[in-house]
Amino acid sequence: MGQRYAVPGFLVLLAILTGAGFWVWGGTVNGSDPEPVVGEYTAFRHEIVYACGDRETGDQGFAPVEIHGLDAAGIRLHFPDADGWSVVANLPEELVVVRQSVRFCQKHAAYRHLGVCEGYVAVYEGPLGGGGEVCQLTDIPVESLPGFYRDKLDQAMAFNQQPEEVQAGLRSEMEFPDEATLHAVMENLDELRQD
Ligand SMILES: [Zn+2]
Repeated sequence: MGQRYAVPGFLVLLAILTGAGFWVWGGTVNGSDPEPVVGEYTAFRHEIVYACGDRETGDQGFAPVEIHGLDAAGIRLHFPDADGWSVVANLPEELVVVRQSVRFCQKHAAYRHLGVCEGYVAVYEGPLGGGGEVCQLTDIPVESLPGFYRDKLDQAMAFNQQPEEVQAGLRSEMEFPDEATLHAVMENLDELRQD
C-alpha cells in the first residue's frame, strides 16, 4: 500500500518544489531590485593578454567615470567580445576587463626564431610557437642543409606539437632574444650548407 503511493507522492512533492522555485525565480525577475551598475567605488582592473600568453595589468583602481552607471549588458557593449574583450563582473563591487591582443609583449616582440617558408630558411617574429609572421626570408634553401638541421626546422614549424624536451632544445638553438644573436647564428648556418 505504502509502496503504491510512494511514486505519486514524490511527484506531488516535486511539483510543489518546482512551483515554489518558479515563484521565487519569477519574483526576482519581476521584482523592483535595480540591476547592479558600475559606480565610483567599483574596483576596476584592465588586463592585456598578449599573443605569447604573457599578461599585463594596465589601469587599476576605481572604475573610470565614462563607464559609471553601466550594468552587465552595458559593460559588454562597451567592451565587445568581437574586439577581443572578456569581462568578469561582480557588480557593484568589482569589474575586471581583459583584452586579448594579437601582438607580443614588449620582451617577446624583440624575439626572433627560425623556420621554413617556401623552401627557404626564414626568420619569424616572436618566440617559437607564437604564431608570428615571417619578417625575413633568407637565401638559404632548406634542401642545402644537412638532414639533422632540416629535421629541427620541421620541428620548429610544428613547435606546439613537440614534447617538452624537444621544445627546450629548439628554444636554445632556433630562438633568439634579439636580432644581434640571430645574425651570429645565421652566419654559422651558411657554413652548414652542402651545396
Ligand atoms: Zn611575452
